[in-house]
Amino acid sequence: MSHVISAWSIPSVAVIGETGTYPVRRIYCVGRNYAAHAREMGHSGKEDPFFFMKPADAIVPSGAIIPYPSSTKNLHHEIELVVALKSGGRNIPSTKALDHIYGYAVGLDMTRRDLQDAAKKAGRPWDMGKGFDQSAPITPIQPVSKIGHPAKGKIWVKVNGTTKQEGDLADMIWNVPDTIAYLSGLVELAAGDLIYTGTPEGVGPVVAGDRMDGHVDGVGDLVITYAKA
Ligand code: MN
Repeated sequence: MSHVISAWSIPSVAVIGETGTYPVRRIYCVGRNYAAHAREMGHSGKEDPFFFMKPADAIVPSGAIIPYPSSTKNLHHEIELVVALKSGGRNIPSTKALDHIYGYAVGLDMTRRDLQDAAKKAGRPWDMGKGFDQSAPITPIQPVSKIGHPAKGKIWVKVNGTTKQEGDLADMIWNVPDTIAYLSGLVELAAGDLIYTGTPEGVGPVVAGDRMDGHVDGVGDLVITYAKA
């Protein structure tokens, strides 16, 4: 099948120990999935999970130096464990959910908080606060065959060497199997889907010239730098 305009290449993520890459179909993100972060955003921390999306081509590899995004004066870091699916389906039971995971990565759900806050106040969609260009930095993926399924362990991010967010994967309100089960009741999941699983407390701003160092125990280390203004 030919196209009437040039087709783009499929966004893809490097995989540790493999020459092949992981092709990205969709990026789902979980909102407010750590109780202390839910509270800092003004919520009880006991609600059902909810989801938003980023475009597949929002991914940025670790090590990149990227421009500070347009149209914001309050860009926030959200450090997250990322799940990479190798298969999917509808209404996946929690007990079968881990079977669909190819691997895990460390990601940042970068957020134009000022645009998100304005959208919340106006009852409008979050897309331009969350799904902008280069809003989804991600490390190479660690296959399940190498690291298994991390259910606990430190997750943190430093900005210019100072720790800003620190939590533990065990503190997720909705763990990975339950998140996959819930999300698969809303949409059909498939190979190539990434799930950013939410962030612990301590979200805050970064500015041009800042360097972010993110980490999840046993999964990886992410470095992203915003170019100087
Ligand atoms: Mn997030």
